[in-house]
Amino acid sequence: MDSYEEYNTENRIIDGRESEEDFDAEQTLRPKTLDEYVGQVKAKQNLAIYIEAARQRGEMLDHVLLYGPPGLGKTTLSNIIANEMGVNIRVTSGPAIEKSGDLMALLTNLAPNDILFIDEIHRLPRFVEEVLYPAMEDFKIDFIIGKGPAARSIRINLPHFTLIGATTRAGQLSTPLRDRFGVLLKLELYTPEELSRIVTRSARILGIDILQDGAYKIACCSRGTPRVANRLLKRVRDFAQIKGSGVIDKQIAEYALDALEIDELGLDNIDRKMLGTIIKIYKGGPVGLDTLAATIGEESVTIEDVYEPYLLQIGFLSRTPRGRCATRLAYEHLHLPFDGTGDAEKSRGFEQTVFDVDA
Ligand code: ADP
Repeated sequence: MDSYEEYNTENRIIDGRESEEDFDAEQTLRPKTLDEYVGQVKAKQNLAIYIEAARQRGEMLDHVLLYGPPGLGKTTLSNIIANEMGVNIRVTSGPAIEKSGDLMALLTNLAPNDILFIDEIHRLPRFVEEVLYPAMEDFKIDFIIGKGPAARSIRINLPHFTLIGATTRAGQLSTPLRDRFGVLLKLELYTPEELSRIVTRSARILGIDILQDGAYKIACCSRGTPRVANRLLKRVRDFAQIKGSGVIDKQIAEYALDALEIDELGLDNIDRKMLGTIIKIYKGGPVGLDTLAATIGEESVTIEDVYEPYLLQIGFLSRTPRGRCATRLAYEHLHLPFDGTGDAEKSRGFEQTVFDVDA
C-alpha cells in the first residue's frame, strides 16, 4: 500500500505504487493465505516456519520488517501473516503519524496479540520513532505529564503485539529501529513465470478470458511487479473487448502494450527517456540522481523507487559512487552505438543493490 500523496501518480501504468484506482480491485485480488501467495519462495518458507513455531509456543510472532520496491506484496503479506496467526491487524502508515501522541493512541488501543502494520515506516518522524523503541522491546511507553520542573513521566504497559513495518528503503531506517525487528524479509522482483501465475489467477477472479500466451506476454512487461501485472491485465482486457474477441491472447496483448507504448521488456517512455538522457547528454554516465531527475523532469524519489529497481535488475543501469551509468545492454536496447571506452564501462564492478539493508 505505497500511496505517496506528494507523488505524481497520474495514470502511469508501470508505476508500482498504489493509485486510488487500484484500491478497490486490490482488495478482491489480494491472496489471503501463504499458499495462495505466489513466488517469494524463500521469504515464504522462512515465514511459514516462524509462524508455525510461534503458534506451537502459543506466542506472538517477533516484529517483522518487510522491504522491497512498491507493489511487490508487502501489504498483502502482512494481512496473510495476521490471517495465518489468527489475529487482528491494524493498518497505518509513517506519514499518517505526525505526533508522538498519534502513535501512543494507536498503541494503547491495541488488543493483546494484535498486529500493528506501519507502511512506509521509513517516513516516521524521528521523535515518533523513539516512542516505538520501548514499545517494541518491553511493551511499555512513557508518557510525560506536565511541564518544566513539575513534569512527571508515567510508564504504561502495553498489550503484547507484533509490529510489521514495510518500507521501500531499508537503508533509510535508523539503526535502533532496524535492530528491534527480529525478522527481516526482503521481497524480490517476480519472474515472468510467477507473474504469469498471478495474472492467470487475477483473470479467473475478475472473470476475464485469458490464454496462457496472453498471460505470459503481460507478465513479461510487468517489471517484476504484481501490482503492475494486475493493472496491465485490466487495460489489456479493454483492448480485447473493443479491438478483439474478448479473449486475451498473445496477439491482442501485444497490440494493447504497443498502444500503451510499453515495449517488450516493460519499459515505458520515461524509462527510455531516462536511459537516452544518460547516454546522449551524460555520455553514458556517471550522472548524479538529482541532476538526472532535474534533466528529465521527474522526482528523484520516483526514479529511485519506481524506475531504478527494474532497470538495475535487468542490467540496464548501474549505481556507482559517482552516479548512475547506462550499461552496454541499455545502449543496445535503444539501438545506440556503444564505444566501450566510456565511463559506463569503467564503472563496472561498483554495482550495488538499492535495497541492501546496510546501504
Ligand atoms: P506493496 O504493499 O508491496 O506495495 P501490495 O501488497 O499492496 O504491495 O500488492 C499489490 C497487489 O499485488 C495486491 O493487491 C495483490 O493483488 C498483488 N500481489 C502482490 N503480491 C502478490 C503475490 N505474491 N501473489 C499474488 N498477488 C500478489
